Amino acid sequence: MNDWESHCRRCGECCFEKLIEEDGTIFYTSTACRFLDLSSRECRVYHKRFKMGEGCIKLTPEIVKSVRWLPPDCGYVKFLNRGPRK
Ligand code: SF4
Repeated sequence: MNDWESHCRRCGECCFEKLIEEDGTIFYTSTACRFLDLSSRECRVYHKRFKMGEGCIKLTPEIVKSVRWLPPDCGYVKFLNRGPRK
């Protein structure tokens, strides 16, 4: 795990399907990715998740800043919203 990935809380919230309306309204569903372990909230294929063809994307700082569907308490979102340290 690198420094960036250490900000992830392993909550698994990003691994549930979301519906996004044309007006941008986001609906969170209770349908999880089939590879998410619902008790541990860990991905069961983490090291090969991008090869599994399920639409999993790498959450880089640029991606996290550009999407609105991550929950506000996502570790990446909170880290980027914290602003520069003084
Ligand atoms: S929602 Fe954010 S903190 Fe939670 S598992 Fe996904 S990336 Fe990690």
